[in-house]
Amino acid sequence: MAADDGTRDQLDFFRDLGVRDVFLDPARGVTPPAVSPGSMPDLPSLQKFLDGCPRCKLSKSRTNIVFGQGSATAELMFVGEAPGRDEDEQGLAFVGRAGQLLTKIIEAIGRKREDVYICNVLKCRPPNNRNPEPDEVEACRPFLDEQIRLIAPKAVVTLGTFAAQAVLETDEPIGRMRGRWRTARGVRVMPTFHPAFLLRSPERKKDVWEDMKLVRDFLAQK
Ligand code: URA
Repeated sequence: MAADDGTRDQLDFFRDLGVRDVFLDPARGVTPPAVSPGSMPDLPSLQKFLDGCPRCKLSKSRTNIVFGQGSATAELMFVGEAPGRDEDEQGLAFVGRAGQLLTKIIEAIGRKREDVYICNVLKCRPPNNRNPEPDEVEACRPFLDEQIRLIAPKAVVTLGTFAAQAVLETDEPIGRMRGRWRTARGVRVMPTFHPAFLLRSPERKKDVWEDMKLVRDFLAQK
């Protein structure tokens, strides 16, 4: 198959990273491989690897890929579900109303937003903010795994059902998981409620405050 300049650049980039297998689907053109665990030297390389991602159907409807942002050496990382409309438009995670509440949650434990890292399980917005579908989570999971590996935070806080289930590879309900430390790939994980849920159910903010105090105290330990 003849490759145009963009495709050739992408193939060269994969080859330089040591990728040898690329699957050709005549209907969709080149389907780039999933990122191999441990293969990326840093977050900018990972973000470049994700550039123009066609690996799931959300690539057809998104405006921007929302990779995630914050400190590359953060002790604390937040993982949400998927970009909403504001995030899709701006290409940044948690910048809408839920994001404003997340900022307050971060500040409530004495941290600044720029000192933590914030991203989502899915890097592209599901149409009309519908729930992530299993094939989308599977396509995106290697990128989240690689982000966690590169940042190597002391703790990950998952926000809402989908983030907890994806990070912990479980189908347990969030009500049973929240407020209890778990471990995933050697990193401590605290599941809590999603800020968008708190906007609808403000009476649950006290639960999140309890969870965040556990996180604050854990991070304060030497
Ligand atoms: N909800 C999420 O899960 N992530 C965002 O970035 C915004 C809203």
